[in-house]
Amino acid sequence: MALLVKTVEPGSPAHKFGVQPGDELLSAGGNALYDMLDYEFYTASAAFELLLCRSGEKQTLHITKEEYEPLGCDFATYLADKKHSCDNHCMFCFIDQLPKGLRDTLYFKDDDERLSFLYGNYVTLTNMSEREMQRIKTMHISPINVSVHTTNPELRVRMLANKKAGQILQQLQDLAAAGIEMNCQLVVCRGVNDGAELRRTLDDLVPLAEHISSIAAVPAGLTDYRKGLYKLTVYDRESAAETLDILEEYGENAKKSWEHGWCIRGMSGICRPGVNCLRVIFTRILPSWKTAWGCGGCITMNFCRSWHARTALCGRAAWKW
Ligand code: SF4
Repeated sequence: MALLVKTVEPGSPAHKFGVQPGDELLSAGGNALYDMLDYEFYTASAAFELLLCRSGEKQTLHITKEEYEPLGCDFATYLADKKHSCDNHCMFCFIDQLPKGLRDTLYFKDDDERLSFLYGNYVTLTNMSEREMQRIKTMHISPINVSVHTTNPELRVRMLANKKAGQILQQLQDLAAAGIEMNCQLVVCRGVNDGAELRRTLDDLVPLAEHISSIAAVPAGLTDYRKGLYKLTVYDRESAAETLDILEEYGENAKKSWEHGWCIRGMSGICRPGVNCLRVIFTRILPSWKTAWGCGGCITMNFCRSWHARTALCGRAAWKW
């Protein structure tokens, strides 16, 4: 893996030590560079060896600069790498439910832990290599936003149509053990991961509470463009109320159990008081369609008290607020 330099900032350390556009950066301080996160992390030091490739020949530059001073290279994309696409075929996938004819970028299914850290996107962790999981711990990439949906391995494999999806609880436990803060999302599908399955998921997540800032439960948004997709049933007022009762029960128990307490907030999510909802913040400041979809109901609740507007934004699901 190499990072292809597009431009070099005049007067920057990279410029001073002779890095040129077209150079391929291979490693910094002996650490291979795969993307922008590696580049920022491993070039933050005051002194390191930069290995690069120019016209097929390797060269080592001995860089010295102020600690955390930007090295000064720019790349063709903001990740200096391609975005990671998802390996899933979720039964509720909102992209599969888009009408035809929209701009191309709306159809791209990203599932990229770099975008979770940088932009607040939610990731399923199903396409993560061992190196990428280890990097989250090594660099302490935190918080990370995880689409959990269910902790039941067989059910998650079925919901995401991905045989690698069943390891989620182990992955969350590993990240928690490494001190990584997480926001968890549950897209709730009627008759699939609600009821007893929702209780099981919350029972599994509660012991990790020290490292989970929020649990947001959102009803699967359904559109009129579901031809050929998994047959999901729309929530009605009664079934929505049953699900909310479970969430409120866990929220109330949490308030009693933990010193600081948690509260029911936003789209019936369980959030710690004093912890700003990252999803809301990112939805307001970043042009992320994916995040905006997930937070639609919460944003609407903040700005609009109309039941009709809220239910319209959440598809046809009718949640009690
Ligand atoms: S919902 Fe997200 S993770 Fe699931 S298939 Fe669609 S884009 Fe991929």
